[in-house]
Amino acid sequence: MPVPLLDVNAQNHSLESELQSAFNQVLRHGRFIMGPEMETFEAEIAAMVGVKHALSVSSGTDALLLALMALDIQPGDEVLCPAFTFFATAGAVSRLGAVPVFTDICPICFNMDVNDARKKITAKTKAMIPVHLFGQCADMDPLLALAKERGLKVVEDAAQSIGAKYKGRDSGTMGDFGIYSFFPSKNLGGFGDGGMLVTNDDTLAEFAKVLRNHGSKPKYYHHFVGGNFRMDTLQCALLSVKVKRYSQFTAERQRNAAHYTAELSKLYGVVQADPAHCKCVSTQDVWLAAQVAKIVLPVGYAHNTHIWNQFTLRVLGGQRDSLRDHLVAKKIGCDIYYPVTLDQQKCFENLPESSRSGCDVSHRVAGEVLSIPIYGELNEAQRNEVIAAIGEWLA
Ligand SMILES: *Cc1c(COP(=O)(O)O)cnc(C)c1O
Repeated sequence: MPVPLLDVNAQNHSLESELQSAFNQVLRHGRFIMGPEMETFEAEIAAMVGVKHALSVSSGTDALLLALMALDIQPGDEVLCPAFTFFATAGAVSRLGAVPVFTDICPICFNMDVNDARKKITAKTKAMIPVHLFGQCADMDPLLALAKERGLKVVEDAAQSIGAKYKGRDSGTMGDFGIYSFFPSKNLGGFGDGGMLVTNDDTLAEFAKVLRNHGSKPKYYHHFVGGNFRMDTLQCALLSVKVKRYSQFTAERQRNAAHYTAELSKLYGVVQADPAHCKCVSTQDVWLAAQVAKIVLPVGYAHNTHIWNQFTLRVLGGQRDSLRDHLVAKKIGCDIYYPVTLDQQKCFENLPESSRSGCDVSHRVAGEVLSIPIYGELNEAQRNEVIAAIGEWLA
């Protein structure tokens, strides 16, 4: 039986009649831009994550761009972002003429390494964008302390982690701004593109709101150049239906992750990442060798609530592509997030060498990662197929 990596529409089938009535309501009132469902959805997100202001926007990417615009990031400014993340994190920086400066990551949680971030701060550094990759928060306390010490703004890229928690705080709500994405493959998946910008700062929220709509305030008077970063009323109305089920969606993913962890860790050659080795790359290597590890399972730190946007294995010894080929032959969906780190992307080759240096852990991890199906509707028989196929490969 084939197991897809993701079935973005499976979640929507049982909600069909509710989605249709939400659609019909918008169709009847016809307020397609910034209609009443927009504010309702924004209030629902704000309440869910515990933040003062939530602004719906056209995508997670535009939310990042808008955040950086509202923070007045200028051409030539430097912004720290991890080398191992989805492209949009750094793309938003470049689009403003600013320079993304790539930091290395922790090989356990895949997130920004604060010690490396500290080394890469210069007089031009204005902000940092920690990413909460795969559904787990970066270690925010030391990052926020560093930002405060050096006067940097913080934009959390929480595109993959809406609802994840760090020491009880929600991902996206700890920095100056946080951004979420409703791209269909994200945990709160929409019906097209959409995103959200959140902040607890009244002034920043007000400025972002003006920039979202061409910098127009009052209407047709422009003190600033903004853009069209609005999210459709329809999209808001449909997502309002799903947001009410979000804790259930998360619980399903967590159940799947727990099942994988319990069963896969029984296989010889599989170990769970050890949070004690966070950032300690060399001791980790010695430890992994001693465990005769072939596959390292992802782990959620005790202080985090992981929402498992991806369940990402690390396959050691240059064997990642071999496992991938085996799973593909067995019709088990899997993919590599991400095969090329951002410091190695063609479009950044003209950036100063100093902004692309020292990302060794990121490079190694990009050659090791393989994500397997984790979406909520995956049933036990399907999970067992995935586990069995990995067991066959190891044997
Ligand atoms: C998906 C994603 C984005 C961009 O979100 P879109 O809504 O697709 O524009 C940004 N950063 C990360 C880490 C993402 O995974």
